[in-house]
Amino acid sequence: MKKLFALAVVLTAQGLRAETGAYKTIVDQMRQIETAHPKTAAVFSIGNNQDGVPLYALRISTDPSKMDANKIGQLVVGTHHGNERHAAVSAMHFAQRLVTKYESNVVWQSRLADTEFTVLPVLNVSGYNSNRREEAGRDPNRNYAGPCNSSQPTLGSIKALVQFLTTRLFAATVTIHGYIGVLAYPWGFATTHVETRDQATFDALAKEAASHNGYRYGTSTDTIYPATGTYEDYVYWKHGIWSLLVELYNGSTNDIADTSDAMYSFFENVDSSPSVNNQHDGQCTRRLLADLRMD
Ligand SMILES: [Zn+2]
Repeated sequence: MKKLFALAVVLTAQGLRAETGAYKTIVDQMRQIETAHPKTAAVFSIGNNQDGVPLYALRISTDPSKMDANKIGQLVVGTHHGNERHAAVSAMHFAQRLVTKYESNVVWQSRLADTEFTVLPVLNVSGYNSNRREEAGRDPNRNYAGPCNSSQPTLGSIKALVQFLTTRLFAATVTIHGYIGVLAYPWGFATTHVETRDQATFDALAKEAASHNGYRYGTSTDTIYPATGTYEDYVYWKHGIWSLLVELYNGSTNDIADTSDAMYSFFENVDSSPSVNNQHDGQCTRRLLADLRMD
């Protein structure tokens, strides 16, 4: 009996591990949005990380109290890298802008009413709280499987996100990093064939989005550098989810605002279902020296 009681206490403590530090500030902001806009925004957890801390997200839709798989699923993921501070700011700015759009007449003139957004501002909680790129000594954005990498995620946060991606269909996603000033799309690893079968579509979407913030755009490999095991490649390869990597320019107020417009443009123009042409046609090649860069 004593043993059972002790077990119950441990489980409860894990389940209720409270958010602290800079992460708590972001969670408080999410709760403020929810409180001010209960018919448009709801806070929920996509699952716990390995420290037992819930990974909180905002669901933004015409009925945010529950997931609606009949709606078009769109996902924003911020802060894989804890030292890229403006990723969380950018995600929150975009969430606030979405709420405003949902509560204006725009919602009935666009497909917003048929769309359900999930905005996760901070994925790497311990890295964010300690201003470190890594989580538990690992780079979270090298922790996914991919066409040239069959290993499975080891970090709790990545396992939780990978699981969340199976809970409903997602048409498109934006992931936010800094600071280069680029909008990038797959592929982003070292391959003989950097362009996907959807190159023309990706290029058109990125071009239109970039007209709002003036960023360069192209495949991640061409505009940034090849890296193995990234989120932006995983989601497209595994699920066909239209994937846009935002590398903020400098995180200034104007940069964040213009980039929210760019992200909105991408979600507005992207297909309402995932790609079915997401196979990798090339051959995996060795990682390049440029892979050592970190953004
Ligand atoms: Zn980054």
